[in-house]
Amino acid sequence: MAKIIDGKAVSQSVKDRVKAEVEKLRESGIEVGLAVVIVGNNQASRVYVNNKKKACEACSINSYEYALPEETTQEELLALVDKLNADDKVDGILVQLPLPKQIDEHAVIARISAAKDVDAFHAENVGKIMIGDYNFLPCTPAGVMELIHSTGVSVEGKDCVVIGRSNIVGKPMAMLLLHESGTVTICHSRTQNLAEKCRNADILVAAVGKADFVTADMVKEGAVVIDVGMNRNAEGKLCGDVRYDEVEKKAGYITPVPGGVGPMTIAMLMQNTLTAAKTKHNID
Ligand code: NAP
Repeated sequence: MAKIIDGKAVSQSVKDRVKAEVEKLRESGIEVGLAVVIVGNNQASRVYVNNKKKACEACSINSYEYALPEETTQEELLALVDKLNADDKVDGILVQLPLPKQIDEHAVIARISAAKDVDAFHAENVGKIMIGDYNFLPCTPAGVMELIHSTGVSVEGKDCVVIGRSNIVGKPMAMLLLHESGTVTICHSRTQNLAEKCRNADILVAAVGKADFVTADMVKEGAVVIDVGMNRNAEGKLCGDVRYDEVEKKAGYITPVPGGVGPMTIAMLMQNTLTAAKTKHNID
């Protein structure tokens, strides 16, 4: 039976650490601030933004919300990004995705100052991750690394398989495992013999977006299984990509959904906002 990796507990310890540092900075007159921009009426985005605001409160980070209407133009959004780039109270800028169809996400991400890009989506930050000289790590993959570290299993020399190659999860995830000297295979929808490749993994990260995608026959006995997926099953219940009930009998460690990777993403956003503030003030 696998040990359950408790994302709530690990994320709480990250947030406690961030809060302690933010409060120490406040004592020396430095405030830490995150601007969160939401455009339109996407209900899921609204929930994410509210959770981010709550996490800011829990970490003593000042949060500034900008809620723009669905019909906002690209020029209007870029003008807001310019304003936030210049705003000294704002250390981090997060534009909640997806954006309405009239707005080019790439143009918006490119406009955010790399120093305030706490999602680490800007090309400059992506490039830095590639060469291993980074300030910010993208929140979800960074959270996954924290969860793996919490198991005490070292990545070095391990066979790691990442299912998914998106820019926000799969690709940076693979890079972070590589930086820790894992031997990494990236799988995607054109991968052949996927189950066989997964069975070889000491560390398996699923970021597919399909419920019940990873079944027990795809998992090596004792593997660390990290489920990034956030899906709704037929009953509308939140579930991951991993068939939890059968995989937990075979894996060594497993993340539940909910309560695994999800809480880590927000905790790492808090950490990145603190890092942005410290970098601005030349604090190590
Ligand atoms: P995405 O952009 O849709 O990427 C999904 C990836 O899965 C793609 O690379 C795709 O391959 C691959 N894939 C799809 N079907 C496959 C198949 N049959 N066999 C092998 N690979 C297949 O999704 P994403 O943004 O990376 O997110 C992935 C999941 O993580 C989603 O459920 C999302 O909601 C969740 N997520 C969770 C968090 C969190 O905080 N917990 C954060 C971000 C995302 P191709 O490239 O070949 O199409």
